[in-house]
Amino acid sequence: AVPVAVVSAISRCAQRGILVKGGGALEALASARNLFFDKTGTLTGGQARLIRIDRTGAAARIDDTELLRLTASLEQMSHHVIAGAVVAAARARSIPLGVPDEVSEIPGAGVSGTLDGQRLLVGTYDYVTRGAEVPAPVRDLLDRTAVEGTAAVLVAVDGRYAGTLLMADALRTEAPRALRLLRKTGVRRIVMLTGDRREVAETIAVGLNIDEVLAEQTPADKLAAITAARESGPTVMVGDGVNDAPALAAATVGVAMGARGATASAEAAGIVLLADRLDRLAEALHIAHQARRIAL
Ligand code: ADP
Ligand code: MG
Repeated sequence: AVPVAVVSAISRCAQRGILVKGGGALEALASARNLFFDKTGTLTGGQARLIRIDRTGAAARIDDTELLRLTASLEQMSHHVIAGAVVAAARARSIPLGVPDEVSEIPGAGVSGTLDGQRLLVGTYDYVTRGAEVPAPVRDLLDRTAVEGTAAVLVAVDGRYAGTLLMADALRTEAPRALRLLRKTGVRRIVMLTGDRREVAETIAVGLNIDEVLAEQTPADKLAAITAARESGPTVMVGDGVNDAPALAAATVGVAMGARGATASAEAAGIVLLADRLDRLAEALHIAHQARRIAL
């Protein structure tokens, strides 16, 4: 039988917007030693703002508005938080969006599809260079903006580089305090695990007192990092995206952020922070500790 203390702890969590899928998840949280955080959409709010569009060296002659229309039309099909921000930027400018077809997405890399007979590639530098030649100055642009913590979304149309959308994605305001609280509850090691570039990751990590930053991680890399960490103790993975799903499932307990529609992460996790706030994780840990003391 599940102890009364556990049942009541799960219901207390529910009242705080923390969905706990069972006593096992709560117990795993209470024993946490290693804590891994995804960056984009987890440590950051994922409410990125379009700063500007850079078309330096672009081979495709497409103006800013049309570039935003094409990109946002395709990004409608993605659950990625940056994709959502691109769509919001187009909506804010009242740009009518089209419906692409032949859409396919590689989690943590980007998305491709066809719109108005044009073939679109949208995503990271590595992803877009697979299908288009990206001019040399773009590398400098990415290096310069990455140190500011800016996410870059590259776009190619019909195999020609068309421009880069520069998106500012800020740290969640509650993140520094939430991580400090988590430190106080027996967590020994805090690691950032991101698909993004090292420079962007390091900028976001400033002031968070993170022990280690692992950048440019594919979903398989994230999975491997969690599997390795479990050898040294109970490991919690916190993430929001489809690219985090394997790592969430492999952790002692996975924690998914919010319910933005990325159901793959919510399904793979034992705990879902429906309230979409990182400080709720510290609360959940506190409740889990209390429940363990009472139940034992
Ligand atoms: P994180 O692991 O920090 O959440 P991701 O692995 O989800 O980051 O993404 C890694 C990089 O890939 C990010 O810089 C993001 O901008 C880019 N990316 C992934 N999917 C998309 C997409 N659909 N549209 C634009 N950029 C994308
Ligand atoms: Mg993410």
